[in-house]
Amino acid sequence: ETLEPPEPLHRVNGHNYDADNPTSDRINATLLSLVRNQELDQLIQSMKDLERTWNHKFNYPWTFINDVPFTEEFKRETRKHSNAEIRYEIIPKEHWEIPSWINKDMMKESADLLADQGVQYAHLESYHQMCRWNSGMFYKHPALLDMQYYWRVEPNVHFFCDIDYDVFRYMRDHNKTYGFTVNLYDSPESIAGLWPETLRFLANKEHSLAKPNAMNWLTDKDRRPEHNRKAHGYSTCHFWSNFEIADMNFWRSPEYEAYFEHLDRAGGFFYERWGDAPVHSIGLGLFADPNSIHWFKDIGYQHIPFFNCPNSPKCKGCVKGRFTDGEAWLHREDCRPNWFKYVGNEWAVPEK
Ligand code: GDP
Ligand code: MN
Repeated sequence: ETLEPPEPLHRVNGHNYDADNPTSDRINATLLSLVRNQELDQLIQSMKDLERTWNHKFNYPWTFINDVPFTEEFKRETRKHSNAEIRYEIIPKEHWEIPSWINKDMMKESADLLADQGVQYAHLESYHQMCRWNSGMFYKHPALLDMQYYWRVEPNVHFFCDIDYDVFRYMRDHNKTYGFTVNLYDSPESIAGLWPETLRFLANKEHSLAKPNAMNWLTDKDRRPEHNRKAHGYSTCHFWSNFEIADMNFWRSPEYEAYFEHLDRAGGFFYERWGDAPVHSIGLGLFADPNSIHWFKDIGYQHIPFFNCPNSPKCKGCVKGRFTDGEAWLHREDCRPNWFKYVGNEWAVPEK
């Protein structure tokens, strides 16, 4: 019996992941966080978890992005929590500001109506700006133009499981476009016009749909018919985008770009409260091969109030199989079964 010698630190399956080696075997990728200065402590919580469970082995660079300059304190404190390179970037004004074609009076009136319907953050302008930026702007940031893959990380999220492989290499080697952990129903009131606007965009563009695609997942009305009705034909089931591991070349594709452009002109990021999660999800459902979308069931994850907690000895700190520790009704918000019903792991959506 021969024992393999242990690999030196930061070498995984023969690949070199030394922190300060510019010619390491890292994939062209970054950990990415849009974050506010006042979220420093919460961000450090997320960093600690992700460094401990994964990144201390791979040393992928972090990119922090903000609409205002990061404070010296923010830079000093975050640098203490990773050996990897950290970049601090500011959003170009024209990527963040409310576009010129948006009418501020109409915006205010719409926000009043949305708030009456119980839509969260209806009056918080920056929340609308954030959703629009995450939908169609982040991958155009000058600091990301040469980057291909990203792992989106929010402040105050938790990672529970040791992950021993390079998830970016996995994405590349298996031709994956998008990775998720949690799938949720959305508040239909926040996106009442999104599906109608999507159909207007698609008129005479049937040929641009991916083949196969996940149209029947997007339009499901079996499990939550009232959601589909209130959202005018969209099930509201979406990949919960506070976690994403994805290939930016998808967002940069002419199909998705044209779709975002159409939505942006329609104004629903401001007259309604379209989230980047449903926008990304519809874009993927229409223009990505469902087989290129991967459920990272092995990545234990929590963004309050939902979890992805695998049944594995590699996971510590979450209850196996638990989806939420919130109120009972929150259990109904899980729509992963929808995705698996239509797309499965092997099953491709038949062509129309
Ligand atoms: P929620 O998860 O939908 O409740 O929204 P969050 O408040 O967590 O915001 C989503 C992400 O965008 C988080 O990473 C926030 O740090 C970030 N974010 C939200 N609004 C702003 C903002 O005005 N400026 C900056 N720099 N980041 C923001
Ligand atoms: Mn959040």
